[in-house]
Amino acid sequence: MYSDRALVIGAGFAGLLAARVLAESYGDVVLVERDAISPDTGYRAGTPQACHPHALLARGAEALETLFPRLGEEMEDAGAVRADLGSDFLIRGPSGWAPRDYLGLSVLSMTRVMIERIIRGRVLRLPNVSLVDCVAVDGLLHDRGTVTGVHGRRGDRPFADYADLVVDASGRDSKLVSWLAEFGVHCPAPMIVNGHVTFTSRLYEVNRDLKLDWKTAFEITHAPDARRGGSVSTVDGDQWFLTLFGADGDAAPTDDDGFLDYATTLHCQDIAEIIKTATPVSKIYQAGNLRSRWNRFHQVPNWPRGLLALGDSVMSLNPVHGQGLTLAALNCTTLRTLLQEHDLSSEPLVFQRAIARTAKIPWTSATTSDLGWSARKLPLGTRLLRWYTGRAFEGVPGNRRVYHAFIRVSQMLDHPAALFRPAVLFRVLLGRTLSGRRPRATER
Ligand SMILES: Cc1cc2nc3c(=O)[nH]c(=O)nc-3n(C[C@H](O)[C@H](O)[C@H](O)COP(=O)(O)OP(=O)(O)OC[C@H]3O[C@@H](n4cnc5c(N)ncnc54)[C@H](O)[C@@H]3O)c2cc1C
Repeated sequence: MYSDRALVIGAGFAGLLAARVLAESYGDVVLVERDAISPDTGYRAGTPQACHPHALLARGAEALETLFPRLGEEMEDAGAVRADLGSDFLIRGPSGWAPRDYLGLSVLSMTRVMIERIIRGRVLRLPNVSLVDCVAVDGLLHDRGTVTGVHGRRGDRPFADYADLVVDASGRDSKLVSWLAEFGVHCPAPMIVNGHVTFTSRLYEVNRDLKLDWKTAFEITHAPDARRGGSVSTVDGDQWFLTLFGADGDAAPTDDDGFLDYATTLHCQDIAEIIKTATPVSKIYQAGNLRSRWNRFHQVPNWPRGLLALGDSVMSLNPVHGQGLTLAALNCTTLRTLLQEHDLSSEPLVFQRAIARTAKIPWTSATTSDLGWSARKLPLGTRLLRWYTGRAFEGVPGNRRVYHAFIRVSQMLDHPAALFRPAVLFRVLLGRTLSGRRPRATER
């Protein structure tokens, strides 16, 4: 144990994982959360994104399993649906349908509410972790370059608490940059790439009369032409989580008729069929202006001692790529490794630099794709990368090898360099000469 007390701002996904890791090194770990939390808490104001589907990538599931042994089993027992990324997925890219042979690589589908509830249950059972809810943190306490705690409000009463280490995990709307500026620590302007993406989502009861041969269907948006896409996953046992994507400013309407009309413009007609025939169990939710933003805290030379930041507070990504949970989990496995050798409250930049290195790959993949919507001339490297990934996308429908490589990279299991291995490179450059099986799905 380094010292007594660590405090985490935000009991969302990253905050819970951070508390789990800190509990190994600190005697007392306190999660401070703005929302009211009970064991059954479901949808809540602090995580509005929970009204939209949350894919947990294979790499993220692996990282979670190291923090919470047998978590996957617990999730399946609670109703999470296991799906093979080949045979159980119906994927439509800009140039056609992906092959559907069995891959032997599976992911779990569940609502974000279920993921968080299960993890929260595990974390709050740790004897040295506690949660103080209904507290809105509105600033940091500090003393000569060291963060010593937080202040805020609990209802209409002032709140303050002290700690040897404060971790900001307050998500994509974190106010950390302005809290730091209040005591003279200035951060570089964040990097922002905006694909002007909108998610419009609704939950349905599974309609067993519809005979579908997949568990997840996904139609991908892709610059410069495919502005519309959608996805449906079977979640929590008996529900379909359905989302319509719009990129480059396009967005599905939130009224019943408009939602259906938008879905009928997709290639994957199963999505419209579900909207027509299944019973909705939620209203239609919309999240717009979804962009990627990177706060480069690792470049702040006078970053205070006693403070770390992780999760969306550092980097929030266009969620269409489904990387946010995985990146947060990787932040926390890095935290665990570094805490074995460093007192991070006195060397916080060791942590911020390490997670910045991990973040480069998801950042590049999310933003290279979104920059395709931009009207300005892109740097040569970005154009080449876009050309090659566009070419690889074209190769997917006719080529299992390319598809498998793509899936492993998009699940963050392999480095993107895997797409340039000779066996893949050859097929990508050769184009669609080998034909793949087409899946059974109604074409428009
Ligand atoms: C529409 C949408 C869809 C998404 N889909 C996916 C997906 O498919 N797959 C995926 O991996 N990721 C997805 N994401 C991203 C994912 O939601 C985030 O990456 C993840 O939630 C980050 O966790 P976090 O703990 O950093 O933030 P959050 O989970 O947002 O948690 C932040 C917490 O801090 C609390 N808080 C905020 N301010 C304060 C304060 N001042 N005082 C006290 N508490 C505070 C909040 O109440 C909340 O509990 C999606 C995001 C969006 C917007």
